[in-house]
Amino acid sequence: MIRITEIIDKIYDYYPDADVDIVDRAYIFSAKVHEGQHRLSGEPYLSHPLEVASILADMRLDTTSIACGLLHDVVEDTHATISEIEQLFGTDAAKIIEGVTKISSLSFDTAQARQAGNIRKMILAMADDIRVILIKLADRLHNTRTLHYHKKEEKKRRIAQETLDIYSPIAARLGIYWIKKELEDLSFFYTQPEAYEKIKQLVRTNQEDREAYIREVQSSISDILNHANLPCAVTGRYKQFYSIYQKMRAQNLEFEQVYDVIAFRVILDTIPHCYEALGLIHSKWRPIPYKFKDYIGFPKPNGYKSLHTTVIGPWAERMEVQIRTHEMEQVANSGIAAHWSYKEGKTLDEETQNTFAWIQNLVDHQDNYGDPEEFLENVRIDLFPKDVYVFTPTGEVKNLPKGSTPVDFAYMIHTEVGHQCSGAKVNNRLVPLQYKLQTGDIVEIITQKGHTPSPDWLKYVKTGKARARIRQWIKKQETERSITLGRELCEKVFRKHKLNFNELVHSKQMEAAARELNFKKVEDLIAHIGYGKITPLQLIGKLVPEVKPKKDDSFFTKLIPRRKDKKATDADAIIVDGLDDVLIRFGQCCQPVPGDPIVGYITHGAGITVHRKGCFNALQMNPERQINVQWKKKAAGAFQVKVNLKAYDKVGLLAEISSVLSQMDANIVDVNLESAKDKMVNGSFTIAVKDIDHLDQVMAKLKKINKIQSISRA
Ligand code: MN
Repeated sequence: MIRITEIIDKIYDYYPDADVDIVDRAYIFSAKVHEGQHRLSGEPYLSHPLEVASILADMRLDTTSIACGLLHDVVEDTHATISEIEQLFGTDAAKIIEGVTKISSLSFDTAQARQAGNIRKMILAMADDIRVILIKLADRLHNTRTLHYHKKEEKKRRIAQETLDIYSPIAARLGIYWIKKELEDLSFFYTQPEAYEKIKQLVRTNQEDREAYIREVQSSISDILNHANLPCAVTGRYKQFYSIYQKMRAQNLEFEQVYDVIAFRVILDTIPHCYEALGLIHSKWRPIPYKFKDYIGFPKPNGYKSLHTTVIGPWAERMEVQIRTHEMEQVANSGIAAHWSYKEGKTLDEETQNTFAWIQNLVDHQDNYGDPEEFLENVRIDLFPKDVYVFTPTGEVKNLPKGSTPVDFAYMIHTEVGHQCSGAKVNNRLVPLQYKLQTGDIVEIITQKGHTPSPDWLKYVKTGKARARIRQWIKKQETERSITLGRELCEKVFRKHKLNFNELVHSKQMEAAARELNFKKVEDLIAHIGYGKITPLQLIGKLVPEVKPKKDDSFFTKLIPRRKDKKATDADAIIVDGLDDVLIRFGQCCQPVPGDPIVGYITHGAGITVHRKGCFNALQMNPERQINVQWKKKAAGAFQVKVNLKAYDKVGLLAEISSVLSQMDANIVDVNLESAKDKMVNGSFTIAVKDIDHLDQVMAKLKKINKIQSISRA
């Protein structure tokens, strides 16, 4: 078991002025809380955080990272809490440990390989501090190194596969190639034991010959370059077993056909030296076309730089040569970690700043930071600032734009799920539909047959798909209702003029009139009459020019004969004097429910709006447009009412409210609770009720909830 003093010595090696107090304290705390726990190896549990901290020190990270390495499992595996960590080790450490714990708690059992890409992004998106990922990688590396202590083969294979699917690609993405390679070779042994053994055997055959070959090529390259006054270091190595395996599989090759099993690396002082060396190597051995890659001119997105070429070597074999500077070599090994590591006597230069274009905008003012600790503390990353990653109840990962709501999620699943979305649960708790989804949330949509979209959704949906589908639906509804209303109005006005609308509507004249008024179809024309954009009289004027159309806003009230018959209407709750099938809306200002005294107003293009008597908005309207409306005896439907409330303490409040409402058979349509001072909550919610009696009963029940201080209809 590695000792803490060895880790501290490592830190002093690369950061002689380090204040290691936090590392000391983290060690003591971790030792105390993990006391009595053991690893599968039989060693004290503490050996694991120590090894993780040691790996982080190998990455030359700052002392906070190393302290967090020592503490990374305490919240998940012991009684220690985040607030304790915050008190003892500060906000930074607490945030990092929280991030590590959150990622550890994810489980991705379902169809992992298929969604591996999304899971990787989810993990990266969850860490707003890159050190969370670095610790997670160090943790995974040590767990993979000790995987052989697991008893069950199946478990070993599953963990190893997860490492190959999720963690080694993350290490590659961050440019930490030494971790990527070690994770791959260790995991490959468990996922494909036979292939691993076979490659190991094949690499061993002719090992002596190969080593002689390596020495020969090494000295040839050194000679050529030294002759041209290019100081260099040349190494030759076997490729990783896993990358040999991947190559065999991808190109369907036998081992003997994988020529460049040995790769050479040439390290030089400057970039011009690299290109010079490339030229010299190409003139000694013939290069293979299309195999040359210039990652110096065109670095990989993670900052990797190098020249790669494959040539026909001295034994007429293909051999790969990588050419780079010392600095590129360091970045290639430590990747993003290079930016968190201490460099003695060097501030981070512009070149380094540019290495990772995707963190650039977050590393805004780094010139202002004198010492590396301060710099590290102030650098935060957001690798996917525009996305959130959430789970379906079956564990599938879905990617949505940041700010998306359960409604967006519902439409992403299916248009019908969106239309029928009546509520949502996130992590098993009921949330309002305008809740903003967070990465890692498990989202469940509650649907109800016959439930329909609300125009309010448009105020908060984020995705184009949801927006388009809701608009489409609303448009369709409006068109249908307007056509009905338009037809109704026409029939009446035509009758008044001794014309039969239902006959005329199919006539050639009608088609001509529609064209003349710039409509493609007669139906569109009728819809526009329903919207109130054209009057039936204007249409009659086109059809029968001798009838002079009058311009009169109040044509509804004047032309429509009062009738007493109460035919079932489209609007299920309201009877409008003298009109059937009228487009009815309820005033959002006063939200009438059956039982309230009401009054109707004819509005241009929107049928009739029903307000409560005495509603402030209604009083502003032109009395000429007023029309008598009544509730039906049995008004059917659910009526939305906004209720304001003040309450103590938010915890559990929503749950209590929703349980009362579900007992009372009233649905929550919308919730908006905001924390105010002194644990008070202000807010409102909209519920759907049957009528005024139902509303009164619900309000009486809600008043009995202890936490609620006051409640009133908006
Ligand atoms: Mn761990």
